[in-house]
Order: sequence, then structure tokens, then C-alpha cells
Amino acid sequence: LSLIADMESLTLDDIFISVKTSKNLATTRLPIILETWFQLAKEQTWFFTDEDNMELQKQTNGHMINTNCTSQHNRDGLNCKMELEYRYYMKSGKKWFCHFDDDDYVNIPRLVAVLQEYNYKQDWYLGKRSSFSPMKLACRYLNYTRWAVYDIVFWFGTGGAGFCISNALALKMYNVFALNGFTDVCSALTLNDDVCIGFLIDYVTKRKVTLTQVPGFHSHIEIMKKISLEHFQKQITFSYSSNNTIDIRGFNTSVDPSRFLSLHCFLFPNFGYCKNKESV
Ligand code: UDP
Ligand code: MN
Repeated sequence: LSLIADMESLTLDDIFISVKTSKNLATTRLPIILETWFQLAKEQTWFFTDEDNMELQKQTNGHMINTNCTSQHNRDGLNCKMELEYRYYMKSGKKWFCHFDDDDYVNIPRLVAVLQEYNYKQDWYLGKRSSFSPMKLACRYLNYTRWAVYDIVFWFGTGGAGFCISNALALKMYNVFALNGFTDVCSALTLNDDVCIGFLIDYVTKRKVTLTQVPGFHSHIEIMKKISLEHFQKQITFSYSSNNTIDIRGFNTSVDPSRFLSLHCFLFPNFGYCKNKESV
């Protein structure tokens, strides 16, 4: 009987989905998200931005959060948004905290299916590495009268590929966020938001928890064309940058430069606008 109770199934509503954006990008990057995957997770997705935008507020049914962080692409601005993402997640009380960038396509049913395989009551940090070697932080400390140096070595999940943190692990990070403030800590360490998350997880769990690599997360550091069509259903995220998009037929590139509209119609052909798909 207790076995059955433990096997409670995960639903989309157990996931807090945060997307980092900015006033400079909201008008170029959000429309495609709002037209596609956001439609499958309207209640669960929140956008963290740096302006008040009535139009977007209307389109998202009030899911735009003005962080009042600087809109510049600098460390403090990005860390400030990550701090707010975390704080809102904690207020939500959900089982999973998942972060994405505004140039990500999130395959919602796949996200739910993958998280279902991990126990949110245990410590899980799921994502995709962006480097072949781990981060190294050189720390100096005074050993009696001499300065000694040692390296803190840790992995981090690339923010642009998306990452998810279980509730158990998120709770362990609370003291850092509540007492010192994520932005201040990361700023003092000169670490960017996603790297700093990796560091803090290593730190608060005393080396016990590290990034579990889940191959379904993808950032545009990878070559998007390498993901083949037959494996699309199984991927959690897709991304794009100029000259680096997934290879898919569908809408003309002038209508669909990111290829996300074509991808969405491939995954969910029943969306109304998918009927208008012209071949490229
Ligand atoms: N971003 C931001 N403020 C900026 C520029 C970017 O908050 O001034 C966000 C952007 O919305 C995205 C993330 O930071 O979610 C990464 O930005 P981008 O994709 O432009 O750069 P990348 O790091 O992928 O090269
Ligand atoms: Mn990007």
C-alpha cells in the first residue's frame, strides 16, 4: 500500500516554469513562445523581465513579472533575475523549479515525463553541461601565517539549455538566498547566474549533489541540426541563434526564422495554424 502512495504521479501543475527575458528581447523572442509551447503551460509558466508591458501582461494573463533588475546583459542583472525566479518558485511550493531562457522551446509533455522519473523529495539538479571540464574556483585562505590556495571544482547546467531543481534541493539553498541574497553572493564570487547555481548546489550539499546530465536539454552552444527529426519527441528543450537552428520542414523561414513554429506543428499538429503550413 505504501508503495502505491509513493508512486503518486507528477502533473504539469507540480512544475514551476520560469523564463528569463528582458524588455530588449520581449518583443522579438516572446511572440513565438506565446504562440507555441506557452499555450500548453499557461498557468505554470512565468516570465521574469525588467519592464511593465501591458500588452504582454494581457497576452500572458498576468504572468509577466517585473523584477526591477537592470535590463543590461551584465552579471548583476542576470543574477538579480535568477534570484527572483527562485524566490517566486519557493512561494509556489511546487515540486520542481525549472528555469529556461527566452530562446528556448520547451517540449512540455516531455518535461513532465522526464521529471516523473526523479523523486522531488530527493536532491536533484538536472540539466546539460556546456563545457568539457568542470568549473574551478580558486580560493585563498590563511593557514596560520601563509596564504594557501585550493580549488573548488563543480559542474553547472547551462541556463540556455534549461535546468530543473527538485524541491528538496531548492529548500537546501534557501539559507543562501534568504540570508545573503543570491545576487550579492554571486557578485562577490564573480559568477554568472547559471554557474553560481551550480556552485551553490555544490556548496550547500557539501559536494554530495552534482549536476545529473539529462541529454534532452539543448542550448544553442550545440549544433541544433544534429538533433534528428525522429528524436524530436524525446527532447525537452530546443534553442536557436543566428545560423544555428534545428533542421525541420514546415513554415517558410521568413515566417518562422527560429523554426519553433514548424517544430510545434510537428509535435502538436492539431494546433489551428498548423494547417497553413507551407513547405520550404
Ligand atoms: N537577457 C537579459 N538581459 C539582457 C540580455 C539577455 O535578461 O540584457 C536574458 C535573455 O532574455 C535570455 C538570457 O538572458 O533569457 C540569455 O541571453 P541571450 O540568449 O541573448 O545570450 P546567450 O547567453 O545565450 O548568448
Ligand atoms: Mn541564448
